[in-house]
Amino acid sequence: MAEILVLTEHRQGEMQEISLEMLAKGQQLAEQTKKELTAVLLGKGVASMADEVKRYCHHILVMEDDLLANFNSEPYQDVLSFLIKERKPSLVLMGHTAFGMDLAPPLATAAGIPLATDCYEIEVKGDAVIPYRQMYGGKMCAEVHFKEAPCHMITVRAGSFPAEGLKEINGAVEQVSFQFDKDYAYKKFLQYVEAAVGDVDITQADVLVAVGRGIGDSENLPMVEELAKLLGGVVACSRPVADKHWLPKERQVGTSGKTVKPKLYIAFGISGAFQHLAGMKNAATIIAVNKDPKAPIFSVAHYGIVDDLMKVVPSLVAKVRERKGA
Ligand SMILES: Cc1cc2nc3c(=O)[nH]c(=O)nc-3n(C[C@H](O)[C@H](O)[C@H](O)COP(=O)(O)OP(=O)(O)OC[C@H]3O[C@@H](n4cnc5c(N)ncnc54)[C@H](O)[C@@H]3O)c2cc1C
Repeated sequence: MAEILVLTEHRQGEMQEISLEMLAKGQQLAEQTKKELTAVLLGKGVASMADEVKRYCHHILVMEDDLLANFNSEPYQDVLSFLIKERKPSLVLMGHTAFGMDLAPPLATAAGIPLATDCYEIEVKGDAVIPYRQMYGGKMCAEVHFKEAPCHMITVRAGSFPAEGLKEINGAVEQVSFQFDKDYAYKKFLQYVEAAVGDVDITQADVLVAVGRGIGDSENLPMVEELAKLLGGVVACSRPVADKHWLPKERQVGTSGKTVKPKLYIAFGISGAFQHLAGMKNAATIIAVNKDPKAPIFSVAHYGIVDDLMKVVPSLVAKVRERKGA
């Protein structure tokens, strides 16, 4: 059957945003290649999620089992190998998440499927599906040409495709019947540990004033904290600031930090590496302040100031104070 398979991802009973992003891209690719879109949902007690996901694909393959209740790449790999063999999809998409990074390489190797990881774009050119990925820490963008094969696999970087605009397809739910013949005792899920929220939960703030390495020194943080307070917001940061322990790790925005969607995100001295952008690019309004006019942060900013933050922050503090009569 000519179809595109999307492995949906869920955690603690909640569908992850990356699943909807992949379904949105999957819909587009299915239309372009005249194939059907099939979601795979593995877990335990996932019926309500299946009802949600079926709205956006032609088929949803559901399997419920205690072994699938929490993510474990071993049983997942066995079920997916079986499904790939049975259904012969032309393309398999999964998230480039901790989950997908664990699962995709052994699955692709075992099934002999060419794999491209951490892709931020996928195009169709003629009969070929072409993924794009960054190399050398984001310094180069590569157009990947797969070797010819009946099936290809791509892991998708979170935040690459907007989930908004998903079309209603209302596909059919199909139960997968697969018999596990191992107990997988050598790799077990032990427990889910929620990261500590800390003193401030940046995911809940309407206004975030974020600082990057451009802040220069922790001694410069008080002026940023003052601005955040005047705006009714809190201070967030890029990874180098958290790594230097200038701010706690819970304030870090990005792929290895938090994903935030505030009404206002002001970025001071943040270059805009993709790992940072993935965590904040969906903020309603983004203002970037950077000395470098070519900083990638300006590609997602709605407003930009090319200047030294050491000048901009104090003048903003003074302006807001003046407005507030503070
Ligand atoms: C696996 C992995 C996961 C990662 N996860 C994350 C993550 O979750 N979050 C994250 O942020 N990063 C993450 N990173 C790191 C990421 O790749 C970048 O290195 C990081 O985002 C850069 O932080 P920055 O923009 O603060 O610093 P830099 O890239 O050094 O940028 C500093 C910016 O400040 C500007 N600047 C300097 N001085 C001034 C001034 N006085 N006034 C105005 N502008 C000034 C400069 O022009 C520059 O653009 C991750 C990396 C890896 C490999």
